[in-house]
Amino acid sequence: MAHFDSSQTSGERHTLQSLPKSNVFTQTLPADAAFPTPKDSHNAPRQTLGPRMVKEALFTYVRPDPQGESELLAVSQRALQDIGLKDEEAETQEFKDVVAGRTISTWNEERPDEGIYPWAQCYGGYQFGQWAGQLGDGRAISLFESTNPATGTRYEIQLKGAGRTPYSRFADGRAVLRSSIREFVVSEYLNAIGIPTTRALALTLNKGSRIVRERVEPGAIVTRFAQSWIRFGTFDLQRTRGDRKTLRTLADYTAEHVYGGWDELPGKLPSGDAKETHNQTTTGVAKDTIEGEGLEAENRYVRLYRAILRANALTVAKWQAYGFMNGVLNTDNTSILGLSIDFGPFAFLDSFDPTYTPNHDDHMLRYSYRNQPTIIWWNLVRLGEALGELMGAGAKVDEAIFVEKGVTEEEADELVKRAEGVIDRCGEEYKAVFLAEYRRLMTARLGLKTQKDSDFEVLMSELLDCLEAFELDFHHAFRRLSAIKLSEVETENQRKDVAGRFFKTNDSPRQESDSRERIGKWLEKWSARVKEDWGDSSDAERQDAMQAVNPKFVPRSWILDELIERVEKKDERDILPQIMKLSLNPFQESWDWDESEEERFCGDVPKYKGMMQCSCSS
Ligand code: AMP
Ligand code: MG
Repeated sequence: MAHFDSSQTSGERHTLQSLPKSNVFTQTLPADAAFPTPKDSHNAPRQTLGPRMVKEALFTYVRPDPQGESELLAVSQRALQDIGLKDEEAETQEFKDVVAGRTISTWNEERPDEGIYPWAQCYGGYQFGQWAGQLGDGRAISLFESTNPATGTRYEIQLKGAGRTPYSRFADGRAVLRSSIREFVVSEYLNAIGIPTTRALALTLNKGSRIVRERVEPGAIVTRFAQSWIRFGTFDLQRTRGDRKTLRTLADYTAEHVYGGWDELPGKLPSGDAKETHNQTTTGVAKDTIEGEGLEAENRYVRLYRAILRANALTVAKWQAYGFMNGVLNTDNTSILGLSIDFGPFAFLDSFDPTYTPNHDDHMLRYSYRNQPTIIWWNLVRLGEALGELMGAGAKVDEAIFVEKGVTEEEADELVKRAEGVIDRCGEEYKAVFLAEYRRLMTARLGLKTQKDSDFEVLMSELLDCLEAFELDFHHAFRRLSAIKLSEVETENQRKDVAGRFFKTNDSPRQESDSRERIGKWLEKWSARVKEDWGDSSDAERQDAMQAVNPKFVPRSWILDELIERVEKKDERDILPQIMKLSLNPFQESWDWDESEEERFCGDVPKYKGMMQCSCSS
């Protein structure tokens, strides 16, 4: 998997000044009419930029408003590299000021019509299944877009926790250090294990700030970045307002500027041959689910919807394969690019319990591990409703009368039927893409090179059943499996012995002989499949392949809690960079740090610190 090493993409590295920047988002999309230009916003007293309803617009120009004294706590080296910044750039005062929201480096009051001015996005969302109305970037302010010349990748760089915006509603626009540390670490960790996610560049402490949550806490700012921050909720809001014009502008923007152009979307019919499809699936499985009937009616908005659903199906499959839960999968926290986004009460599994939700307030288990694939589909159906008119219009989507007025009454039934048909077929495609990706990842995690139909039942399901029944650690299971040599599991007694490695140290009551026997039987089937796939090759080759997909380090809740405690209460400054080293290189066996600390952070979850829950307050 190429994403584990981004060094080959580094190319020539830049300073903040020399990095190519843009503001395609604000140049292309409609601005809040109350502050139509940067100057209008900049000259407005800061308090007038507070909460209100913003219509027919997708953003408001608004400047950061930092509090207290700024201390740069950490920078992600991988993020610097991916953005295209020199490592030394992070030491400059300009960098520190930019990531703290203390300077707008891309705009100058003297020449207000030039340059790039910060903005906050307008969106809505369904929260816990209910329509919540306008939400928006209540505490996120985007600074500029930057393009890494070496990779051509454009990112929108934003500050989280830099003050109120028109979308702050009743809240303060701030983020506490606790949740900022969590977001900073997990964003970079997910990226390191190959899961699409928004990223984190820097973490700044606002010294002396006092943020009121369940207790009074220090505030912080995470400088984060993503190829797009558009959410499903961005579409939901325009749909519930019946703003067809803004909705269409947004859909066009998403295809043209986020997905790289209409031609890049899946299912494109090459001119002259309606039978053949460009199918971008890496799996091939979904190909025929959308072919055939109804394909002629597929217009470009259907293809946009399908691109979005595929991206999300792939990501949720990865969450399931790696035991990650977002914790609040509302539509405002579901990315148009299928990125993991908005990290609140997220967690990784400790022991394998599919009903576990990390969200303390999620009494219905709506956002539990087991429910994530269903919930993302639920969110996709809401998106399908938002895009329904454009998708259902078929070939008429560009007719002037439709663009202007929408569907006529006579044609409404047909349009709705067509849109529903599309969403139904897309449901099949979602399932197929999800399953194929999940199986691909689990196959690799089990150390297999090929997929057999029976693997799903015999190996994957049975392993998960064992983990659940004996309350075994999800991540340790795969890492420890990676270390097993085939010669160690040849006899029944050997296998029972090796089965003991899956239990916690000192967990003797659980290691009764029947549990060891069941795991032993599983190991027998597993080793037979490994032999089938690897033949006479040495254990080492397979072990390397397995270790490259089964991380040794996982930033579990107890680790993040300890990290927060040490940074916030004990003023430690070395621990965060150390944990980042593990997070950026989680497949390594060791990290040139204190060996006992490394083993502690990669070892058994301390008593009473497993499967913790977190509240939404952040
Ligand atoms: P979240 O649950 O973090 O995804 O937030 C849901 C909505 O509430 C988003 O519109 C956030 O911008 C907004 N929000 C959350 N916390 C704050 C805060 N402290 N200040 C302003 N807006 C907030
Ligand atoms: Mg959110």
